Amino acid sequence: MAYLEKIDPEIAEIIEKEKSRQINGLELIASENLVSQAVLEAMGSILTNKYAEGYPGKRYYGGCEFHDMAENLARDRVCSLFGAEHANVQPHSGSQANMAVYFSAIKPGDKILSMNLSQGGHLSHGSPVNFSGIIYEAHQYGVDLKTERMDYGAIAEMAKKIKPKMIVCGASAYPREIDFKAFAEIANDVDAYCVADIAHIAGLCAAGIHPSPVGKTTFTTSTTHKTLRGPRGGFVLCDKEWAQPLDKAVFPGMQGGPLMHIIAAKAVCFKEASTKEFKKYAEQVVKNSQILGETLKGHGVRLVSGGTDNHLCLLDLTNFGLTGLEAEKALGCAGITVNKNTIPNETKSPFVTSGLRIGTPAVTSRGMKEEDMRQIGDWIAAVIKDIKNEALQAKIEQEVKEMASKFPLYPDLV
Ligand code: PLP
Repeated sequence: MAYLEKIDPEIAEIIEKEKSRQINGLELIASENLVSQAVLEAMGSILTNKYAEGYPGKRYYGGCEFHDMAENLARDRVCSLFGAEHANVQPHSGSQANMAVYFSAIKPGDKILSMNLSQGGHLSHGSPVNFSGIIYEAHQYGVDLKTERMDYGAIAEMAKKIKPKMIVCGASAYPREIDFKAFAEIANDVDAYCVADIAHIAGLCAAGIHPSPVGKTTFTTSTTHKTLRGPRGGFVLCDKEWAQPLDKAVFPGMQGGPLMHIIAAKAVCFKEASTKEFKKYAEQVVKNSQILGETLKGHGVRLVSGGTDNHLCLLDLTNFGLTGLEAEKALGCAGITVNKNTIPNETKSPFVTSGLRIGTPAVTSRGMKEEDMRQIGDWIAAVIKDIKNEALQAKIEQEVKEMASKFPLYPDLV
């Protein structure tokens, strides 16, 4: 960062501080990951200098020949990774990938049926404070409040009553496998389109550890930066018949110039995700999540739905008389980054919450395994059980730092 330090020491210092936070702490935010240095290099490359509105072979600017190559590689690789007929890799984010799908298949005022935000859905699935809930008439399903799992029969009943134009499935805080085939059938029965948003589990689907919706649902949307371990961004997959409306919806429908440095980094991510090493990584993510969950259960923590099938656990802190906000802050002081999260049957506001969401994609990228998860589970439980004990938090912060030093992050990055 020699140039940055000289030109803008303030920003250079902020980056250094964040680097040290990432190196010395444990990142357990389920939607985050640590990209490879190859992805970082592509993101920081001179491809950022170019405007490339349009698509490969049909650009509105000259000089795009190398950008065409990068975007074609990204499209081909993601299609082969997920077995899709068509891909659009230009959405700047997961929310924009979802927007592109709505814009390509339904009209303002149409009904959508999607998962409630407070029970695990995402803002862009029809929340009233988001474009998706403002433009479309959103009806929402939740989980069964006893099992805390999706009840496909109840969702089918809702679909029959509401007759939505589109059914949205996929979640931000759901620890169980999602039956995309069941969703596709529910949508088919009421003549609705079906979109599967696999933002959280894309890496698990790519590795064959979670069933993939591709080929079952009309569209699949995703981010690239969660379990898939790529740059921040989004993409959409669909059959050939939807290629044209989808591409038009992205550009010129809702975006201008694509972020070509990010598209190149997406191509690197798709290449990495197709390797045997990545499959092993994704398997370890789930193993780690299950061991972490079991360790916490052993300490008396209730897991929403009783456990996990994927990269995340949702903890209910009600038995400890704690809020998610208090636990998030205390764990932060112990060097463990997590986020407060609403749980099914939530009684508190989303700024306070009764739960915590913890995920293993980032710690697994550092190489941590089962025994490390047991240790992390013990630390989390110790902090939760003695929430006001600042001396304990400081002690754990030191121990976390020691453990983290055994799993170096970006050793070549200076
Ligand atoms: N879809 C789901 C299921 C998500 O969890 C998220 C982000 O957390 C998104 C979409 C949106 O992604 P972005 O933050 O890139 O807009």
